[in-house]
Amino acid sequence: IPEYKVVMLGSGGVGKSMLTTRFINGNFSEDYDPTIEDSYRKQCEVDDMTCVLDVLDTAGQEEYIALRDYHIRSGNCFVIVYSILSKATLNEAEAIANKIFQTKNTYDVPIVLVGNKCDCATSRKVTPEEGREVAKRIKSGFYESSAKEGIKVDDIFIQCVRRTKHF
Ligand code: GDP
Ligand code: MG
Repeated sequence: IPEYKVVMLGSGGVGKSMLTTRFINGNFSEDYDPTIEDSYRKQCEVDDMTCVLDVLDTAGQEEYIALRDYHIRSGNCFVIVYSILSKATLNEAEAIANKIFQTKNTYDVPIVLVGNKCDCATSRKVTPEEGREVAKRIKSGFYESSAKEGIKVDDIFIQCVRRTKHF
């Protein structure tokens, strides 16, 4: 069975852990330790093909740069998450993508950019167009999601597999 190493990246508090647990377990739990970094496996069917996703939910701060380099090197594809409630997290997402290109020494990397917390649309600080513009620059897929409401969560990981199959 083909296996894909998916690495979750993005600023702290944007919802990486909640998206991961929503995808792996199908639930949303408020009390998740923000310092936990772990990987989770799930078998899926994508386009009639069975595969295993090995999802690494990262939790590093800037001091863990060396660790992030290691994660980037070992990952096959990347979900870069920002929050639609914070423009700074979108800027950070683009910086992370550039870091991936630099580390992998190529622009041909499967990435899905995700604007999470779309259930909080009334407090939105980032428009879908602003997210899509960054996705265009970094040549990634793009979704707005809600880990809380379970919106577009499976789609993110399915697109990750589809984009990775071409490499
Ligand atoms: P991480 O640091 O990127 O792993 O972020 P977490 O997954 O720990 O989430 C940080 C906070 O945002 C928690 O309080 C979550 O309950 C909340 N959160 C995560 N996803 C969503 C979402 O889709 N909608 C809303 N409203 N809150 C969310
Ligand atoms: Mg986390």
